[in-house]
Amino acid sequence: MWTLHCSVCPYVQPNGAQLASVCPDCGQPLMVHYAAKVPRENVTGATSLWRYGAALPLQAGEAAVTLGEGMTPMIELPHLAKAIGVRRLWVKDEGINPTASFKARGLMMAVTRAKALKLPGVCVPTAGNAGIALAAYAAAAQMPCRIYAPETTPPPIIGSIRAFGAQLELVQGHIGDAGKATMAFAKESGFFNVATLREPYRVEGMKTMGYEVAEQLGWRLPDAIVYPTGGGEGTVGIWKAMGEMLDWGWLPAGTKKPKMYIAQAAGCAPLVRAFKAGEEKATPWENPVTHASGLRVPGPLGDRLTLRALRASGGGAEDVTEEAIRSGTLLLASKSGIDAAPEGGAALEAARQLVATGRMDTRAEVVVFNTGSGASYRW
Ligand SMILES: [Zn+2]
Repeated sequence: MWTLHCSVCPYVQPNGAQLASVCPDCGQPLMVHYAAKVPRENVTGATSLWRYGAALPLQAGEAAVTLGEGMTPMIELPHLAKAIGVRRLWVKDEGINPTASFKARGLMMAVTRAKALKLPGVCVPTAGNAGIALAAYAAAAQMPCRIYAPETTPPPIIGSIRAFGAQLELVQGHIGDAGKATMAFAKESGFFNVATLREPYRVEGMKTMGYEVAEQLGWRLPDAIVYPTGGGEGTVGIWKAMGEMLDWGWLPAGTKKPKMYIAQAAGCAPLVRAFKAGEEKATPWENPVTHASGLRVPGPLGDRLTLRALRASGGGAEDVTEEAIRSGTLLLASKSGIDAAPEGGAALEAARQLVATGRMDTRAEVVVFNTGSGASYRW
């Protein structure tokens, strides 16, 4: 069983299985808290993220809506480690997921809860990949689905959303504008709004990336993780997983959590700006511009949680120019065979910049995330 705890104030929703949005008292994200420790022996079975099913919010008698997401490859790249100047480097390739991005993990969990609660439909604002993932999982659950995307969203992503049969509304502006339209629609329709951190379940799917990093390294942790960050749910989820694994005894005593670093585009870097200014929350970015569409999130609801994770871990935040995102993406794809998305290229370049400026240890073992497939960005 689980309860829902506000990430900022003392609010607790005792029946975690009830429908939940943000905290009713303060409007900040709710997080799932498990009443009992989950032993590592319960990590077993499926070669998808459902091997961690004992640590996910699903009750007896409820069925998961799954397409075999998770357990993505984590590939060690010694020559790229050398190029960047760290001891060891792995790239975790989230483009291998169903719908070709890390978003599959979180939207799977949100749709699974929506289906279990027999809700009339699901809706989301998207910068791209979350829309495809929601459309696919809604199709798998046979639930109605409405998606709001900026009209500048890459055409292959728009085509995929339509292919899964979702109702798609194109919006002038950025994901923040799409978010307002989604909220208005959710209010009138009763559809469940699964926008990033506006409900507590997506993060639960996302946290399995942290479990996988540990298991794929033989139940130990790297020194640093670099995650390309728009809304923040990936970073927040991985950080939650680190805490749970240590609390639940999944890792050897004395294991240190990794330093968490985020990469953002220089044309939309609200979290980097807030981190460098020592702020607890981010001010929305004016006129966000980047071709890495997953990073075009000017006012993320997960700002406090992300900044808290960066600081608690001793990590940091780095912004990357459009030119450097392109060169990082080309470097990653051409030197590894991984179909790197611009977001993954931004993360690799951020790692290089952090080492070059002395903010990441050259002795570090580093995991960089490629959050999606590059194919969605080529047309
Ligand atoms: Zn609260």
